Amino acid sequence: MDHTLPYADTPQVNAVRLLPKGLQSVRKRHPWVFEDSIAAPPEKARPGDIAVLFDGRKKTAAGIFDPFSEIRIRVLAWGASAPDIGPVLFGELAKKAARRRDGLFGLETNAWRLLNGESDGFSGLAADRYGDVLALKIYTAAWVPYLGNVADALCAANPGLNRLAVRFSREVSALPPEVRFHLADGTLFGPPGWDGRVEFLENSLIFEANVKEGQKTGFFLDQRENRARVGELARGMKKVLNVFSYSGGFSLYAARNGAEEVTDIDFSKPALAASERNFELNRNLPGVAVCRHRGIADDAFHAMKTLEEKGERFDLVIVDPPSFAKSSAERITALNAYSRLASLAVRLLRKNGILVFASCSSRVGADELFEEVHRAAHNAGRPLQEFDRRAEAPDHPADFKESHYLKCLYARV
Ligand code: SAH
Repeated sequence: MDHTLPYADTPQVNAVRLLPKGLQSVRKRHPWVFEDSIAAPPEKARPGDIAVLFDGRKKTAAGIFDPFSEIRIRVLAWGASAPDIGPVLFGELAKKAARRRDGLFGLETNAWRLLNGESDGFSGLAADRYGDVLALKIYTAAWVPYLGNVADALCAANPGLNRLAVRFSREVSALPPEVRFHLADGTLFGPPGWDGRVEFLENSLIFEANVKEGQKTGFFLDQRENRARVGELARGMKKVLNVFSYSGGFSLYAARNGAEEVTDIDFSKPALAASERNFELNRNLPGVAVCRHRGIADDAFHAMKTLEEKGERFDLVIVDPPSFAKSSAERITALNAYSRLASLAVRLLRKNGILVFASCSSRVGADELFEEVHRAAHNAGRPLQEFDRRAEAPDHPADFKESHYLKCLYARV
């Protein structure tokens, strides 16, 4: 694939001695080394420079630097004979990640996560595929000098990629331009005129993602299995409500399976427009063709309250909010918000209606979250009978405690 992304041909190599705290973490093969667990941090280390980590005089791991982050070093290789950081290692890790996903998807799905950060050995980096589009997203400056190397490794391990989008987290976007090699979030490589939109298939439904501007890398691939489950549950239902609907993922699965009316709530007008377009893309399917679809552009809390006051009731309510807790300090506020949402949602459900409640906040645990949801439902006089709990999709492996974030509760009132 043609691109002009940077290659780290000769990164600077620094020896780094770890403090006991850092050693403990590296011994457990955890990829994060925090700034306060390094004995004498090299003063001039630039993002992406290599850190060879020492336990006394013994080499114990190797990683890449991010002088701008509390996670100062991202470990990519372990042991006294840890391989060099560079194209060979990236190639092997990318192939391993591809093998791990072998056979997960047939022809009905051509979009999935190729690399899931630390769990695939690429701490602070995620890669998604949408048909022939590779969307790379980095959460640390350490990866900027290696973007070319990583893109090539992924293209070699995953045949058929022809276009490329580079996405930066908010933190990386805010770095000085020279640190970003003057790349901006949403840089595209592809045929002239390509604007970042791509159509792809998920369980035979056609969706469009905008890999240049969309949230995450354009679509919430992590909810694929929950969307499919919602589709099954929606068979023959009259009214479905999709709260925090984004581009209508859950809605389309419900419509395809015969839900008569589907309502989206999202405060983003572009998201609602994307949902409408996704309905149009699938109008040839009998269920979608006859489904009444409407979007409410409003704050979810306000919109749900308004629907309740109007006396509208639903057979199925999906609540899939953004992460309310960006730091552990926000945990309690987040739990409160989840509780209010659950309370609003159960009031909108018909007798025997189904609530699907998800959270993508890694700071809030499944048990405490669902306890809160149950309590809120109980207090609203609509106690829940839980029938399932789900976590991350199989293309989003979570090998570390911190990598777990997605949980989804299924219950009946
Ligand atoms: N369920 C979606 C993903 C949801 S992402 C899917 O499967 O694709 C969260 C969405 O919530 C975003 O689209 C965002 O625009 C919207 N959002 C965030 N805060 C909101 C609020 N207070 N009210 C309404 N929508 C909100």
